[in-house]
Amino acid sequence: MASIRINADRIQTRLAELSQLGRTPEGGVTRLSYRAEHAAAIRLVARWMREAGADVGLDAWGNLFGVVPGSLASLPSIAAGSHLDTVPNGGVFDGALGIVGAVEVAAALHDARATLRHPLLLLAFAEEEGTSFGVGCLGSLGFVGRAPAPETLRDPDGTPLSEQLRAFDPGVPRRPLSAPLVAYLELHIEQGPTLASQGVPLAAVEAIVGISRAAFVFVGEANHAGTTPMDVRRDALWGAADLVAAVRTMARDTGGQAVGTVGRCTVSPGATNVVPGRAETVVELRSPDGHLLETLRERVEASARACAGRYGLSLEARPWRTEPPVPLNRAVRDEIIAAAGELGWPIVTMPSWAGHDAKILASVAPAGMIFVPSHGGVSHSPREQTAWEDAVRGVQVLCRAVERLDDASAG
Ligand SMILES: [Zn+2]
Repeated sequence: MASIRINADRIQTRLAELSQLGRTPEGGVTRLSYRAEHAAAIRLVARWMREAGADVGLDAWGNLFGVVPGSLASLPSIAAGSHLDTVPNGGVFDGALGIVGAVEVAAALHDARATLRHPLLLLAFAEEEGTSFGVGCLGSLGFVGRAPAPETLRDPDGTPLSEQLRAFDPGVPRRPLSAPLVAYLELHIEQGPTLASQGVPLAAVEAIVGISRAAFVFVGEANHAGTTPMDVRRDALWGAADLVAAVRTMARDTGGQAVGTVGRCTVSPGATNVVPGRAETVVELRSPDGHLLETLRERVEASARACAGRYGLSLEARPWRTEPPVPLNRAVRDEIIAAAGELGWPIVTMPSWAGHDAKILASVAPAGMIFVPSHGGVSHSPREQTAWEDAVRGVQVLCRAVERLDDASAG
């Protein structure tokens, strides 16, 4: 099949229209799952899906989907999509671009009166950001059957997810969604500075990074901040401060293969005139390399012990919680690279340092991701920006990759 032409104006118009649902005064978007803006977004995207010839439904987790029939009814589906929710005051492109892009593939095929051999499954996941229930990728976890029971999850107001799901009615028919998939493709903004700084318009994602988090609690002795001489203090924050510096050095020494963050540090009793008696830090490590992640965990533990010992502190180290890196499918990645090559655009490979629905879908289907540049590497912010030509290029590569997978997998 010859390459289908996408409609750049339609992509721009639709992204703008979708960004109005949950628009904030700062120019960002707040579209939290299962709220009115989410329902309105589902109605809008469902209309676009229907116009592109898809049969639409809403699954038990509030994931919107559309199925465009293929010419060979017996074949499994090729899926494409992303998430419809945003963080509070997030950007216009995060999630939305992957959905508008997937719908555009169907619309462009429809315009060209072309039919794929495989059914095309369009996916608009709920609750990827984990904003409302503290579980990232909740919608896609539900789709693959790995989500926690909805009765066990509550939003910040205390309302159980099960109740919210029952009450959520955007006016799209409820239907179960379980289709065997040939592949899942997700177009997304990079959300980091790599592509923009390299001046490359596209990336095929190799893997989604693993994440390890653990709390380290330094315990010293709270005492008078004036009368306690410096050399007899057991200041818990001294240990924590050294650990923060050590995590920075360790991550920098990997030469870009890992990042490390201490994003939380709670000091007790937290008074200006009291030597800190207790400092609780949470260390987060990320890397696409599972072995490196393990090595760094061991180094952080050793360093935390040394930091505590230096100041006569005791240390309580909590167990690590680790999500291992998820490699994306090599054959799908090769099709994405070949699609960009056919279109004459440079493309690099890189890991994703953020989590995505593709990480979850990778457990049930060969999954691939296409990244386009984020201006200044900014995301989860009203300042999130991607050049229109880059966004459109990403959609065109998505479209070509879908066509290539349709040809390659039909036999
Ligand atoms: Zn996203």
